[in-house]
Amino acid sequence: MTEIRTIGILGGGQLGRMLSVAASRLGLRCHIYEPGHSIAGDVAWQVTQAPYEDEAALRAFAESVDVITYEFENVPTSALDLLESLRPIRPNRRALAVSQDRLTEKTFLQQIGLRTAPFANVEDEGELAAAIDRIGRPSILKTRRMGYDGKGQVRIGDGPAEWTGAPSVLEGFVDFSAEISVIIARGADGQVAAFDPGLNVHEGGILRTTTIPCGQPASVTTDAVLMAAQIANALDYVGVLGVELFVTPDGLIVNEIAPRVHNSGHWTQAGCAVDQFEQHIRAVAGLPLGDGKRHADVVMENLIGDDLDRVPALLAEPKVQLHLYGKGDPRPGRKMGHANRITQ
Ligand code: AMP
Repeated sequence: MTEIRTIGILGGGQLGRMLSVAASRLGLRCHIYEPGHSIAGDVAWQVTQAPYEDEAALRAFAESVDVITYEFENVPTSALDLLESLRPIRPNRRALAVSQDRLTEKTFLQQIGLRTAPFANVEDEGELAAAIDRIGRPSILKTRRMGYDGKGQVRIGDGPAEWTGAPSVLEGFVDFSAEISVIIARGADGQVAAFDPGLNVHEGGILRTTTIPCGQPASVTTDAVLMAAQIANALDYVGVLGVELFVTPDGLIVNEIAPRVHNSGHWTQAGCAVDQFEQHIRAVAGLPLGDGKRHADVVMENLIGDDLDRVPALLAEPKVQLHLYGKGDPRPGRKMGHANRITQ
C-alpha cells in the first residue's frame, strides 16, 4: 500500500474526535463521515455530513482518503460494500460482521474455544418462552443488533418476560465477581500490543469508571490478554480491539467485543506513552505499534449528564487530566467527557 496520509473515519462522536487528534500528532489528517452533527468534525481536516445512503457522498469521501476506519460499528452494509470497493477498510469486514450481531459474535467466540454466557437465539416473541425454559432465570434478553450502553436489553426475573421488539439473544445471567476489559492492538504485520486490563464499574448499563491496575491476579490478567490476542489473530484484525470479560470462579467469560477504540481504554491517555487512539491510528496507517506499557496507575471516570457541573472542581485538582467532548446539551445518560485521575 502507498504511504498513508489521510484517514477516513466513519462516525463523528467522541471516539472519532480523539482519533483525529491522535492522527494529527503523527502528521496525518482525518476526514470524518457522519450523518448527524459531528463533534469529531470540529477537530478534523474535513467532515462530510451526509446519510449512509448517499452514494455520491460516500464515493467522494472514499476518494479523498487512503484508508477507512470507523468509530461506530453499526454502519449499513450497503455503505461498507461501496466504500470497500474504493479503499481498504481497517479493521476488516469480518471483525465488523462479528461484532454487529450478538448471535454471530457469541458463535464465533465459542468456535475459537472461548467461553461466553449460555445463550439462545430468539427470532421473535413466539420463541421466547422456549428459550427461557432452556436458559433459565434470571437471564438477560438483548437485541442482536444496535445495542450499546445497556440499550435494547431486558432483564428477565421471576415475573412475566418483556419482549425487546427485535430479534434477540437470551443470555444466562453470569454471577461475576468483576468486569474487566482488555484493549489490544494488532498491526497489519501481525504485531500485537496489549494494554493492561482495567476494572470496569457500570451504573445503569453505562460505564462509570475504569481502574488500572484491575486488582486481579496475574493468572487472570494474563489469560485475559491471551484471549484478546486470540480473538485479534482469528479475525486477522488490524487496529485496536476492546474485549469485555466477566471474572468468575470458573475462569473468564467473554461478554462482548468492540472492533474499535473503547471507553474502557481512555485511561491510556494518562497511563501510557502511546494511548489507544494513537495505537489505532498507527495500526490502520501501517506504522509500528507502541508497546502499551503503563507508566502510571489511573482511574478513568466518565462525566455523564450533569457531571459536567463538576468541571471547575476537576480543573482545580492536581493529577487530573480532563477531556471534554464539546457536546452541547448535557442530557441525562449522555457521555460529556471523562477525567483521568493519576493515582500513582
Ligand atoms: P452489554 O451491553 O452486553 O455490555 O451489557 C451491559 C452490562 O450489563 C454489562 O457490562 C454487565 O454489567 C451486565 N450484563 C450483561 N450481560 C450479562 C450477563 N449475561 N450476566 C450478568 N450481567 C450481564
